[in-house]
Formats: sequence, C-alpha cells, structure tokens
Amino acid sequence: MNTRRPRILIIYTGGTIGMIENPATKALEPFNFDHLIDNVPKIKMLDYDIDNVQFDPPIDSSDMNPRHWQDIARTIEENYDTFDGFVVLHGTDTLAYTASALSFMLENLHKPVIITGSQLPIGEVRTDGEENLITALQIAASTEPDGEPTVQEVAILFENYLWRGNRSTKMSADNFNAFKSNNYPALAKIGLGIHFNRDALSRPASKLPLIVHYGLDTGVMPLDLYPGISEGTFRHMLTTPGIKGIVLKTFGAGNAPTYPWFQEAIRDAVNSGLVILNVTQCVNGGVHAKRYKSGNALTNAGVISGHDITSEAAITKLMYLFGLGLTPHEVAHHLSTSIRGEVSI
Ligand code: ASP
Repeated sequence: MNTRRPRILIIYTGGTIGMIENPATKALEPFNFDHLIDNVPKIKMLDYDIDNVQFDPPIDSSDMNPRHWQDIARTIEENYDTFDGFVVLHGTDTLAYTASALSFMLENLHKPVIITGSQLPIGEVRTDGEENLITALQIAASTEPDGEPTVQEVAILFENYLWRGNRSTKMSADNFNAFKSNNYPALAKIGLGIHFNRDALSRPASKLPLIVHYGLDTGVMPLDLYPGISEGTFRHMLTTPGIKGIVLKTFGAGNAPTYPWFQEAIRDAVNSGLVILNVTQCVNGGVHAKRYKSGNALTNAGVISGHDITSEAAITKLMYLFGLGLTPHEVAHHLSTSIRGEVSI
C-alpha cells in the first residue's frame, strides 16, 4: 500500500480569495500568496506536501486571457509527474471560462485539477475562502481504493458542490454557492463529508499520457440575439474581421427570427466559411433545433446545434478547435461531438 503523503500544487492566479482592502481607496486589491496561507493556518493540519506557484502579480480574473490559461496549463504540464493533484485559486468572475478552456487544453488528464476561489477575501471573518481552499485540497488528494485519483478531470469546487468545469456557470455575484452546472449533476456534494457522485465523474478508458494543447485561436465571439436586432447590426457582427467562429445565443430551444433577411444573412455567413454554433440563452436545458420551424431553419442554413453546452464551454471549445488548425468543416464536426464531457450528445 502506498502510504506517502499526497503532494498537491496550488497555483494561485489571484481573485477575491487573496485580496485585501486598500486602506486609502477601500478597493479590494490582490495580495501575495504568503498572505493567503498566513490566513489559513489549518492547512498545516492536513498531512499533505503542499507547494505553490503564483502569478506575478496575481490578477483580478476579469483580466484573464488565453495567455494566462497557457501559463496555468504549462505549470500543470511541468509538474504533472511530481504532484498528485492541482488546486487553482482563481477569481470567480471568469473562473468558468478558465475551467472550460483547461478541460480542452489538457487531453488525457488523469489527475485532479480543482479550481476554486471565494466571494469574500480570505482574511475576512465570514470568509468562504478558507473552507473552499481546504475542501479543494482534500478533493485533490482523494484517491480510490485502487490508488487512482477520485477526480480525473478539471472541476470547480465552490461551497457545497463540486462541478464539472466545462459544464459550469457563475450563477451569483453574492451567494457562497456561486457556481452551478445547470445541465449536469454535481460531481460531489459537500456537507459533513465529501460525497462523490461516482456515476458523474469522468473515468478515462485508457491511460494515455497527458497532451497539452497550447494553441488557442481568439478569432471567435458570442452573438446574442434580441428582439429588434436589425439586419445592418446583424450582418455587421457576422462579418467582423478576423472572426471564424460564432456562438449564436438563441431564444429558448434554439430559436431565431424567421425573417428572410435573417435566414439569408446566416446562409451567407455559413457559405463564407463562418462556423456558427447554436447555444440557448436559457441557463437550463438546451437546443432542440427540430422542435420549431424557427430552429429548424437555422439547421437547414448550416448552423450547428450546441445541444446543452454552456456559453463558456462553447466559446473556449471554438478557440481550442481553431487553435488546432482545423478547417471549418472539421471544427463543425467536432462541435457535434462531446470531446471532454462538455455536452450531452
Ligand atoms: N473580481 C474578482 C475576480 O474575479 C471576483 C472574485 O474573485 O470573486 O477576480
């Protein structure tokens, strides 16, 4: 039996969890990792070998971009054999994007990558950061009776739940339970104990070595439909220079206007090589393009159904697929399949 202490690497990127109040401006500003650890002396009670790397300087996650995702992925790749699991501390605002992007970038992941943050800074009396950090470390260290890591994917730990990273969305700017997978069950429920939902956890069939994909193409954008959108505005957005892929945020079960100009604009865009993925504006449920004439027309025009994918996963999946150097046809093909458990197909 393996009795050595779990080795966990904390990657501290910034966010509220490590912020303190600037006495002059009263604004929250990122502080360094030592401050964070000084505020959680309980970490020493865990019998783990914990090391850390931190962004210099730590950032508010509103400043997060694909270069930072590459930095996180590189840190994981460089330390993959040395550590049993990884805990990424991250601002909550764009956390679901980072979780989704990392899930695509890290192919054949067999170790836990647990992303967490907090709504209140870790130094505050009522902070949720301390509990989130400790639970994330425990999940990252958790193993099954055969010694395999319990979690072998990118997941988000927040307050009472562990969620699949590429299925999650930030749901609240106030609540401690800030994240949710609206179309996928929780991977674990956190109460007195950590209760894993083993049916929902990803279990890779083969043990191929980790492959990290660093290429991310930012020539993608979301386009939210709204009643009253004009032909000029719509065509202008569809022909934005440098854009190869669009996440079309549609109504309800994937519906869009049936006006002839709208359908023609979509057809023109698809014929020009633009990849358009249909994602519902609803937080729960997905696209059922065949249910209504208005959704069917999009399919006939060459728009791909995003089924129940989140916007965060949709946009980062497009970045990832175009980053692989695939043709629009190949990208469209992969959008219709689940590559990291991000969509129910
Ligand atoms: N603005 C902060 C961030 O995303 C909010 C947070 O961490 O909750 O970095």
